[in-house]
Amino acid sequence: MIIVLQEQATERDVDAIVGIVREAGLDANVSFGLSRTVIGVIGDPRYLNVARLKEVPSVDRVISITHPYKLADRKERPGTSTVTVGDVTFGGPELVMIAGPCAVESEEQLLSAADYVRKAGAKVLRGGAFKPRTSPYSFQGLGEPGLRILAKARAATGLLIATEVVGEQEVPQVAEYADIIQIGARNMQNFRLLETVGRTGKPVILKRGFGNTVEETLLSAEYVLSQDNKNVILCERGIRTFENYTRNTLDIMSVPTFKCHSHLPVIVDPSHSTGRRELVVYAARAAVAVGADGLLVETHPNPETAQSDGYQAVLPDQFADLMIQVERIARAVGRTFGITVDEAAPGHAG
Ligand code: PEP
Ligand code: MN
Repeated sequence: MIIVLQEQATERDVDAIVGIVREAGLDANVSFGLSRTVIGVIGDPRYLNVARLKEVPSVDRVISITHPYKLADRKERPGTSTVTVGDVTFGGPELVMIAGPCAVESEEQLLSAADYVRKAGAKVLRGGAFKPRTSPYSFQGLGEPGLRILAKARAATGLLIATEVVGEQEVPQVAEYADIIQIGARNMQNFRLLETVGRTGKPVILKRGFGNTVEETLLSAEYVLSQDNKNVILCERGIRTFENYTRNTLDIMSVPTFKCHSHLPVIVDPSHSTGRRELVVYAARAAVAVGADGLLVETHPNPETAQSDGYQAVLPDQFADLMIQVERIARAVGRTFGITVDEAAPGHAG
C-alpha cells in the first residue's frame, strides 16, 4: 500500500502517519520527492485502518497494490485450484456439466430429469429443495422431503447432487444430503451463512450476487475459505442491468476476470443469466469459449408444469442438443467433456 501525501504536508504530518502505520504493527518507507512525500507500507495492509488514514488531512490518496482478499488471490497458488467431488474435478481439464430442474417438485419429475441429463453426459444433478423466492407466496421448495428425493436420484443414477441452502438453520440438513452446497445469488453476502457452510467442509458453489462486483464476490468466497474450506467454486449467473429483454445480463467477462485475480474454479449459469430457454445454449457456448470450468443448466422434463423458472428450463431434447453444441466448443478450447450421446461421436459435431 502506498500513501501519497498532500503537497503542503510537513515533517510532523509525515511522522504522524508513520506513527499510525507502526501502531498497526507495520513498517513504513518514506520517500521525499521534489513536491510530494510518498509512504510505502511494508506488511499486511489488512491490519491498517484505511478509512482512518484517508481522513488524515495531510493524506491525498491511499493506493492499494495488493488485493483485499488473500485466500482467493491468484498469488496464493499458481494455476487454477481444483475442487474434486467424487469422480468429478472442477478446475481441471474437464468441463463439468451440472444440470437439473430449478426445484425438486416430485420424485417422478426429478428421476426423469436425472435420467436424461445423465444419459446426455451431465455429472452433477441440480435441484432446489429449499428455494429462495422473491415472493413469500411462491413455491418455497419441498424442504427435507426434496433432499430425500435428491438422494434417491443419486442412488438411481450415480450422479452427484448439488442443492441450495437458504438459511443457516438448514445447513446441517442440507450438508447431510448434498455433495455440493449452493449459496444463491441472494445470499452471497449473508456472511454468517457463508461461514456456517464453510465449516461443513463440503464443496460450495458460490453464486455471484446480481448486484455485486467481482471483488465483492471474491471477498464472499474469502468467508468460506477462511473456515479452512478450500472447496469453493465461483458461479457467474448474470447481473442486473438496464437491459430487460433478458432476465439478467450475463457478465461473460467476469469469467476471465475472476480467473485473472483468483485461483478458484469458475462455472457459469446460462439459465438465470438469460431467463429464456431459447438463449440458454448461446450463453452456454460463450461461457465455455471464454474459459468456464463448468456449466449449471436448468432443465425440466415438462417445463409448463414447473413450479419455478419453467420459462428458462430447456426441454430434454434441447438439453441433449446443448450438450452436443457445448462439446464442440469444449473441444475447440482444449477441454474434455464427458458427453455420452452417440451423435457426439467425433466427426458428427463437425
Ligand atoms: C437457482 O439456482 O435456482 C437460483 C435460485 O439461482 P440464483 O441464486 O442465481 O438466482
Ligand atoms: Mn432457478
